[in-house]
Amino acid sequence: MKIGDILINKGEKKKFTLGNISGTAFCGRNTGKTLVITAGVHGGEYVGIETALRLIKELEAEKLSGNIIICPVLNTDGFYDGVKQISTSDYKNLNREFPGDEKGTSTQRIAFDIEKYLYPTADFIVDLHGGDINENLIPLIFFPYGSGEDMKNYVRDIASRMSVNFRVGSYASNGLYSYATKKNIPAMLYERGEHGIWSEDDVLAEKEDIYKLMEMLGIIKDGHDISVNKKQKEIVSVEYVEAECDGLWYPYIKQGQRVKKGELLGVLKNIEGEKLQVVVAKFDADILYYTLSLGVRKKDALIAYGTE
Ligand SMILES: [Zn+2]
Repeated sequence: MKIGDILINKGEKKKFTLGNISGTAFCGRNTGKTLVITAGVHGGEYVGIETALRLIKELEAEKLSGNIIICPVLNTDGFYDGVKQISTSDYKNLNREFPGDEKGTSTQRIAFDIEKYLYPTADFIVDLHGGDINENLIPLIFFPYGSGEDMKNYVRDIASRMSVNFRVGSYASNGLYSYATKKNIPAMLYERGEHGIWSEDDVLAEKEDIYKLMEMLGIIKDGHDISVNKKQKEIVSVEYVEAECDGLWYPYIKQGQRVKKGELLGVLKNIEGEKLQVVVAKFDADILYYTLSLGVRKKDALIAYGTE
């Protein structure tokens, strides 16, 4: 297998750095598909990062039919500085910077290198996220609604066999996974964990799902249960509510809660306690995630809720 100009021999595990990205590649003894696993696009989403690190330790290239490339921390500045969603080097959100720019800011150059080195090798990309330091979230998968019927159906089938209970159709196009689907590479975004913490239970659950994905792609044959998760719901319509101005955010719900049309979900107030924005459910819905921060800036995400 080759990534850029780096050659990895059959049965070999190799660390690599190409441009602004680093990771570990496993070239299977037998040929097959290539799975790319990315994490740390957002530096405070720890379950995905820890899961990626465990997989790097556990996987054995000798036993694979195909290849696996794992980049555990793509936004290293954001990760080591412990900030939410952005890189501290240029204040940009890597998951909004696709397509990248070879001559752009540091985050735009990372996006460019992901496209240049990871996209061409991938038969499937899973990008691991979670609720960030300032978010509560129910585990879910985003998959592409806007990249054609075949892409939607293929990724939906894979998502439907994961342990998370929500899969969310998305029309995004400027993120790592969503832009990949625009380039006809099957991809999805997996979210688990929240609030800037990670737990052993969450890491083990996420790791099992990634092993299932490898099994579905034919890279391993270890007998993981890849039957359809009958509890999983498909969210076809999502309301993403942003703050209309700077303010103090008071949510009245929890992630995973079922709410009725017209129900009060939260209020944005000014420092004097006057209401600036009242958020009410536009339809019966499940709460997918919401912001925990008391102080929020204009345009910050407050809450996302969706319906089947
Ligand atoms: Zn994220």
